[in-house]
Amino acid sequence: MSKVKKKVKVIKIDLDKCNGCRACELICSAYHATPKYSSNNPARARIRLIREPLQDVYLPVYAGEYTAAECMGRDKYVIDGKEYDECAFCRASCPSRDAFKEPDSGLPLKCDMCEDEEEPLCVKWCINDALTYEEREEEVEEEAMLEEMETGLKSLIDKYGLENLVDTIARMSQKN
Ligand code: SF4
Ligand code: SF4
Repeated sequence: MSKVKKKVKVIKIDLDKCNGCRACELICSAYHATPKYSSNNPARARIRLIREPLQDVYLPVYAGEYTAAECMGRDKYVIDGKEYDECAFCRASCPSRDAFKEPDSGLPLKCDMCEDEEEPLCVKWCINDALTYEEREEEVEEEAMLEEMETGLKSLIDKYGLENLVDTIARMSQKN
């Protein structure tokens, strides 16, 4: 199997610089409103601030993949004497909590790195430089890339159904 290049996008979080201002939540929810920038409800953001000012805890967490099954166990973290909620670091939209769910429809939300924007907007709007964007290229086995594609397709099928997906692909290829 040959190697192919894959672009990896990373947002680095520096917790020491975050002051919990929540500008990242605001801009993310505004960018993803329909139409764009028509509203700013942080419940629609793909980034969520865990704020516990009395403990001096400000922790941005990005929305990751949806999972249909909730965890059987939980982890508890104590860092520098501060105790974090059992699900604090989890990025998944899952059945056991409301985080990362579209408030009206309940559909899972996932960070898309602001699609076609040059730089993710949460990074741009973080005046404290707590968020830094990095891009790098990695060489991966073509097989691994195909597996990733299969996983993506499977989640689309789970979400929209095979027939809808096939119809959409047929429509797209007619346009080309
Ligand atoms: S914009 Fe930056 S400083 Fe403000 S809450 Fe988000 S990550 Fe923290
Ligand atoms: S990268 Fe874009 S989509 Fe992801 S959390 Fe930041 S603003 Fe939201």
